[in-house]
Amino acid sequence: MSDATPTPLGPGGEFDRLRAVFARLGSRASGIGDDAAIVTVDGVRLALSCDLVVEGRHFRRDWLTPEEIGWRACAAALSDLAAMAATPLGVLAAVGVPEGSEGAFLEEMMEGVGQAAMFAGASVWGGDLVQAPVVTVDITVVGRAERPVRRRGARPGDRVWVTGSLGAPAAAVAAWEAGESPHPALRARFARPVPRVAEAAWLRDRGATAMLDVSDGLVGDAGHLAAASGVGVVIEAERVPVHGGVAAVDPSIPRSADPSIALRGGEEYELLVTLPPAFGDGEARWFVREFELPLTCVGEVREGAGVTVLRDGHPWDIGGGFSHFRAT
Ligand SMILES: [Mg+2]
Repeated sequence: MSDATPTPLGPGGEFDRLRAVFARLGSRASGIGDDAAIVTVDGVRLALSCDLVVEGRHFRRDWLTPEEIGWRACAAALSDLAAMAATPLGVLAAVGVPEGSEGAFLEEMMEGVGQAAMFAGASVWGGDLVQAPVVTVDITVVGRAERPVRRRGARPGDRVWVTGSLGAPAAAVAAWEAGESPHPALRARFARPVPRVAEAAWLRDRGATAMLDVSDGLVGDAGHLAAASGVGVVIEAERVPVHGGVAAVDPSIPRSADPSIALRGGEEYELLVTLPPAFGDGEARWFVREFELPLTCVGEVREGAGVTVLRDGHPWDIGGGFSHFRAT
């Protein structure tokens, strides 16, 4: 597969629409479909990506402070650079705000954008401001990517790992949609996601063969990795690290009894990465010490296609629809 060929995406209606767009663009597109575009300018390899969030679709203003809206939008975009093991350089923020929100709201939101950029070692380079019916934030990110890790390098025999613990953002949204206040630990994971920039570089340096960030849900994103690499991915449900707060909120969900929220929940911004079998538990413990963040083997890469979720050793259908957002 040449670098110009679109990276195949996993199953799903949203991705059917993207496949149709890729087909329409044909040879006018180049290298489309990974977490970020990799382009070489005068011998310097850059990673570029953009990420759009829309009030009512990705967040509600009564869920988050303006600063959190900005942080979250910027962190989500930076996470796509992390997914390529790129080093962030700068961000551009194209912002739409309704009449009446051009003052303190806008400034506080941009404070959050600036904080997230600074956290990742990047600066705010510019942007655009328009009046809009709802708050929209489109963040373009630029990074250096001397040795990018794409989605397409996984090989049979590799093991599949995930950083952090999953399920908290989806649980926070479920609480809000039920008219409740999410547990602070769950809320924090939704409001202030952390782009795993340094973690991604570390994993790249230890031989990561394919990587992406978990934005469509672990199973959905594993489907992208499988499609891009031309392999099958097997995930063992019991191994998936469920965020402790998910069980704390609902004690009827023991840590390993029903990991479906952790398998399906999106907007996690953790890394899903394949590593050769030589990367084992000892290396994972090194990662945990270095970053104070879990790194968990959740399955393996096999010959074949698609994602198989095993529970108690048997295939388990967790159901369709990996986006946890019911558009509001
Ligand atoms: Mg991504």
